[in-house]
Amino acid sequence: MGASRVDAPAAMEPRMVSPTDFFPKLSTPRERKVDGENRSFKQRWEMDYLFVKTKNKPQCLVCLQILAVCKEYNVKRHYASQHEFQFSKYTGNLRLAVIKDLKTKLKSQSPVPVPTTNTEKAAIKASFLICEEIVKRKKAFSDGAFIKECAVKMARAFGSEEMAKCFESV
Ligand SMILES: [Zn+2]
Repeated sequence: MGASRVDAPAAMEPRMVSPTDFFPKLSTPRERKVDGENRSFKQRWEMDYLFVKTKNKPQCLVCLQILAVCKEYNVKRHYASQHEFQFSKYTGNLRLAVIKDLKTKLKSQSPVPVPTTNTEKAAIKASFLICEEIVKRKKAFSDGAFIKECAVKMARAFGSEEMAKCFESV
């Protein structure tokens, strides 16, 4: 029995038209000038769109969102789509008062509040309670052991050996 070799000598490969055969004409679109005009914060945006300047970026006084682009188009679009229905009724002095109020709130919100120790503790306790519940409920299922293991690891991660032992005993 002769060995049946399947790999026949390479036949003439059909000549494929490769993409490099073509030299697509690179179209160079005219570069649009984006810098220069309309790139600086305008003071009137505060009155018109309830925006203030934060680190050279426009920040919405209402929802505190900071826009990446400092252009009137974006600022106006944000205001029109998000807040106009709510704030268009405030005009003149009333509007000034609203802006003043919003600005005060903005100042009181920065820097970002750090969670207090008590809150953190409460959060950890909550996670433990949820974990405990999961372990209890899943006990009958095959993945109960896995979840238990997770809970134990989580407890240890929080530095509570006591809690870890607690989970281990479930
Ligand atoms: Zn907003």
